[in-house]
Amino acid sequence: MDHGPIFSAMLQEFDGAARILDLEPGIWKILTTPKRQITVSCPVQMDNGEIEVFTGYRVQYNITLGPAKGGIRYHPGVTLDEVTALAAWMTWKSAVAHIPFGGGKGGVICDPSKMSRRELEALTRRYVAEIVDAIGPEKDVPAPDVNTNDQVMAWVMDTYSMHVGHTTTSVVTGKPVELGGSLGRREATGRGVMIATLESAKHLGFDIKGATVAVQGFGNVGGISAQLLARAGARIVAVTDWKGGVCNPNGIDVEKLLVHVAQHRTVDGFSGADPLPPEQLWALDVDVLIPAALENQITAENAPVIKAKIIVEGANGPTTPDAHRMLHDRGIFIVPDILANSSGVTTSYFEWVQDRYGYFWTEQEVNDRLEFKMREAFDAVLKTTLKYKIDMRTAAYIVAINRVATVTRMRGMYA
Ligand code: NAD
Repeated sequence: MDHGPIFSAMLQEFDGAARILDLEPGIWKILTTPKRQITVSCPVQMDNGEIEVFTGYRVQYNITLGPAKGGIRYHPGVTLDEVTALAAWMTWKSAVAHIPFGGGKGGVICDPSKMSRRELEALTRRYVAEIVDAIGPEKDVPAPDVNTNDQVMAWVMDTYSMHVGHTTTSVVTGKPVELGGSLGRREATGRGVMIATLESAKHLGFDIKGATVAVQGFGNVGGISAQLLARAGARIVAVTDWKGGVCNPNGIDVEKLLVHVAQHRTVDGFSGADPLPPEQLWALDVDVLIPAALENQITAENAPVIKAKIIVEGANGPTTPDAHRMLHDRGIFIVPDILANSSGVTTSYFEWVQDRYGYFWTEQEVNDRLEFKMREAFDAVLKTTLKYKIDMRTAAYIVAINRVATVTRMRGMYA
């Protein structure tokens, strides 16, 4: 099979861990091959009366541990290579999080910024109708991703329900709470990042109270991570986003910054801190650095100036492989994305459980269960790091691959 660049990057990470595990060639082949790749054409009548045909994908990379799980992305740059790689990463993330899901991902090539709400709804419903036989609570459970949100998930749920003839909330997660969404989902990923940071500080032997933190990105993940770490006693000294940055060595009042961002959509111009050119974030003398914006932000160019003791990857893929090697060699403790931000998918799993159960938990119950799962996942990866004397990223892959490989062997070959 020909691999695109993004899937090849995933394979590089996989291969490093599989070699240490001494994975047998047959299982290696199974785990590096997507189970199912679906391509669909979605004709939509646009508001101007013309018909557009959009290409959509749904990839179920591996369903050994349970139904495929992963978001649906709407973006002009979506490719089958990207969707397949993201579905593979979801497989490893679900396995590290120790939840009974495989990995999937969907995408539609479109530009939602140029589409009306009616066009987006029509596209969503047609895309779901095209993949309706492949998804379902026991088969494949989509979720939001880039440019899709709880409203899009409500349309997914409704379209699927119309096809099967009854309301099926558990076909999709990330729904509004009123139609089967989970309390605590909005904060879940930031909460997991906070727990991973606390666990890392404990492992390295320093107290989070008074520790200094710099955060790139102040959206869902970065904003909540900063808020919860500040509540745990950490000092958030710098935050940057798409427009600018702010810093205050005595600690930024995160609650006030959240109010400012809700009003202005950026941290820029916040009066409770000094302006900070965003590229200066990396060189700050802080204990913890949290990249929580975009991929490929920490590179071979800026890695040498980083002084943090811990990097917790709130974003997906924020550190390039070269930068990762350089930072690890300098003894910087990096909590990889598939572990650090796995609380998002763990809470999606909780939503699916509650929908199937028809009984909903309080926010406190969700948070308590999340904390338990996150600590369990962190502990498994840390033990593997110490056992093989390797970095946390390779260790996370080892934990994930081992779990999927073990079940693959137990289930045996159907032929
Ligand atoms: P978001 O849109 O809520 O926030 C993104 C933040 O990044 C914003 O503050 C934005 O201003 C900032 N940003 C954008 N471009 C930037 C730039 N060039 N430089 C600096 N900052 C920039 O998104 P989010 O949900 O917080 O997701 C952030 C990352 O976390 C993504 O990589 C996402 O895939 C990943 N992630 C999110 C979740 C989740 O549950 N939200 C789960 C797992 C992984």
